[in-house]
Amino acid sequence: MLPLSQSHLTLLDACERKYQYVFLEALSGPATYEQQLTTQWGSRFHLLMQQRALDLPVEVMVGANAEMSDSLAALAESAPEVFAHLPETAGKAASESASESASKSADKTVVDEVTFSQSEHRRRLAFNGYLLTVIYDLLVIDSRSAVDQASQNGDGYQGQIFDWKTHQRSPRKEWLKNDWQTRLYLYVLCETTDLRPDQISMTYWFVRLAEENQPGFYRFDYSEKQHQATHQDLLRLTNRLTQLLKLAESAADFPKVAIEKGLCDRCPFNVRCDRASLAAPTAPTAPTAIALSPDPHQLLQTASQLTADTVEEIPW
Ligand code: SF4
Repeated sequence: MLPLSQSHLTLLDACERKYQYVFLEALSGPATYEQQLTTQWGSRFHLLMQQRALDLPVEVMVGANAEMSDSLAALAESAPEVFAHLPETAGKAASESASESASKSADKTVVDEVTFSQSEHRRRLAFNGYLLTVIYDLLVIDSRSAVDQASQNGDGYQGQIFDWKTHQRSPRKEWLKNDWQTRLYLYVLCETTDLRPDQISMTYWFVRLAEENQPGFYRFDYSEKQHQATHQDLLRLTNRLTQLLKLAESAADFPKVAIEKGLCDRCPFNVRCDRASLAAPTAPTAPTAIALSPDPHQLLQTASQLTADTVEEIPW
């Protein structure tokens, strides 16, 4: 079965031709120097949090990067609910059920009396001929944080998905709410456990410190209505993908997105799609800077800026 992540769904929803380029033809646009640095910083922070979750020493990594050290300390102060679940507490009953559900959609993780937390937790769900795949930065299934809910509902478990965002600017909350990462992560947790939608939430922590020196966060609760809407959208997209893959067998190209959607002007494939004329021209100032600069680091940075207006950010 073909695995589908949030990146597949995002591209499929945005432009079917771009999905073909990226996932069937393995093409990619160039990353700017800043994008490479951001990706590197993000990878290291995720590794740091994973080590923290495994109760491994983090002092060496933290000591090598003062900014990351400050970010980790600020997150610990702002989000004690995250660190209350570290190191991992993968209780026997819960973890065994979790690994079973990873391979068989029919088997749900039965929430028992064991609090469960795990970083880089992977789940898969068979859906309409595909394998929906998610990796949670931190998953917590907990009863202690839901004592009030217990008295009202008769069961007090909560499934909390945490995700670390390491970009320097946070996106709009409404945009992130509708992003396929949010929708898929919540959907798969609901479908692979016996938790109801109203017992599940997802929280993004923007861990790279901004000027205010405090990490920010967005928390998204979940509902049965949202769950059904996501289910319908997943059916629509997976049915469409099945049609497109049949089309690909005859070597036909996937359809391009409508020009009116305005996605082509910043797309790295607009030359290949013969839509480069839609892109705004850039001011030719950088070559002079390259010629005069003796610093290789600065040369690379300046050169990368030449493509900054034509490269679209890789979806999270
Ligand atoms: S240029 Fe437009 S049609 Fe072509 S892949 Fe990019 S977004 Fe899709």
